[in-house]
Amino acid sequence: RKINIAIDGLSGCGKSSTAKVVAKALHYKFIDTGAMYRAVTLYFLQNKVDLMDEDAVEAALNQIYIDFLFNKESQKNETILNKQNVENEIRKMYISENVSAVSAVKAVRIAMVAQQQAMGEEKGVVMDGRDIGSVVFPDAELKVFMTASTEVRAKRRQKELAEKGEQVDLNEIMKNLESRDFQDSTREESPLVKVADAVEIDTSNLKFEDQVQKILDLAND
Ligand code: C5P
Repeated sequence: RKINIAIDGLSGCGKSSTAKVVAKALHYKFIDTGAMYRAVTLYFLQNKVDLMDEDAVEAALNQIYIDFLFNKESQKNETILNKQNVENEIRKMYISENVSAVSAVKAVRIAMVAQQQAMGEEKGVVMDGRDIGSVVFPDAELKVFMTASTEVRAKRRQKELAEKGEQVDLNEIMKNLESRDFQDSTREESPLVKVADAVEIDTSNLKFEDQVQKILDLAND
């Protein structure tokens, strides 16, 4: 019997990389909802959409179609925004700096949540984000809440950015992670919370394989 797995938690604690490997092991679909908010942010910046202008936001959302394409070569899901592969662009620092403001807009959340719920209708989905266990799949059979210390998260993120050719100061990354966590957990619309039935996993001192195994054990229970 297939289940849905919701993985929420702090920014940059390895939710997506973990979710991806868990999904592969279970032959489930993996959906990175952060990528969707990042793609919306890219579109809004490119088209200079004013977040305060409800009509402009609504009109922009109607022009946005987000999809994922599995790249066999890199074995990665890549984010497609209106037929354009934006996977690289949405991981850049300027998107990280703007995404929390965009994802706090109610109309943006309504549009994304509707797409996400449709993607999980048939079960067999591992979805990571901030509001998956609370809003998108409140009935998910397994909910995980991931955390890690700010320093550990920032170091991992710095390495990822460097691998893509963007050198960013560790302090700047730490500030961005903390500011996103603050904005994400204090916003009015579906704030980041650990729901009562989520299992918390602190990955600060965990090896990647061990955090994957923990979730697989929980899924097989
Ligand atoms: O997961 P990632 O760090 O890529 O997410 C980027 C941002 O998107 C988060 O900081 C948060 O503002 C927003 N987000 C959200 N709800 C989700 C997933 C991401 O608000 N389900």
